[in-house]
Amino acid sequence: MSREQMRILGIPVDRLDMEGALARFESFLNGEDCRIIVTPNSEIVLNATKDPGLAEIIERADMVIPDGIGLVHASKIIGKPLKERVTGVDFSYAALGLLAERGGSAYFLGAKPGIAEKAAEKLCGQLPGLVCAGCRDGYFKPEQEEEIAEEIRSSGADFLLVALGSPKQERFMYAHRESLGVKAAIGVGGCFDVWSGTLERAPEFYRDHGLEWLFRLKQEPKRIGRTAALPLFLIKVLLHGRKDGDK
Ligand code: UDP
Repeated sequence: MSREQMRILGIPVDRLDMEGALARFESFLNGEDCRIIVTPNSEIVLNATKDPGLAEIIERADMVIPDGIGLVHASKIIGKPLKERVTGVDFSYAALGLLAERGGSAYFLGAKPGIAEKAAEKLCGQLPGLVCAGCRDGYFKPEQEEEIAEEIRSSGADFLLVALGSPKQERFMYAHRESLGVKAAIGVGGCFDVWSGTLERAPEFYRDHGLEWLFRLKQEPKRIGRTAALPLFLIKVLLHGRKDGDK
């Protein structure tokens, strides 16, 4: 399947809408290898410009979904507006819906103890046909990673959702892609917290106006430093971004 990409601060992003992203996901499910899906927002793109390891993972990812309003603004500044904003949380939910229709199974790795189980239980209730292959919290030592990858493989899951925050989740998927045994793996940040009902998702008004960052700041004021990544990112794009664009 051919890919249409653009570069934002040198980092590749797929020019996909939800329909295109789901079609690509379905092709991954029909394939053999473990395909990696990343969902960068402005903070992750900014980090990738300073972290060659993260930049390489995004470069080699099989699908790069533009999450975050910052990327949509950036694409307009560059003069190549993205088709639409596809949030990681909406895409992951829709992908699980597609998996459910096929009676496929998902493994939920990440978040605080008990959260992945709660999220999986709610999702399986909402998406009939979805099978939960396993769950594990995201607080483990680096030396436990191999054992966790093996646990995922032996669960027989088709799809792996990794909620460890960035860049931990991207590094985990990339480092273990050969041994996970899944058809696709995605980094989902704080999605388990939202699906489990632990964290409230931004109401429609905030979502429609690209103000999710403001709502999250209200819920978690300690994110103030991270929220500052958005204006910083846009300033960088204004200064350097016009050199970017289509590959
Ligand atoms: N997390 C984890 N292990 C860690 C660090 C974080 O499982 O070592 C989880 C954390 O509990 C949260 C998720 O990773 O559920 C990501 O949170 P964050 O707010 O950073 O994600 P974002 O949505 O901003 O990418």
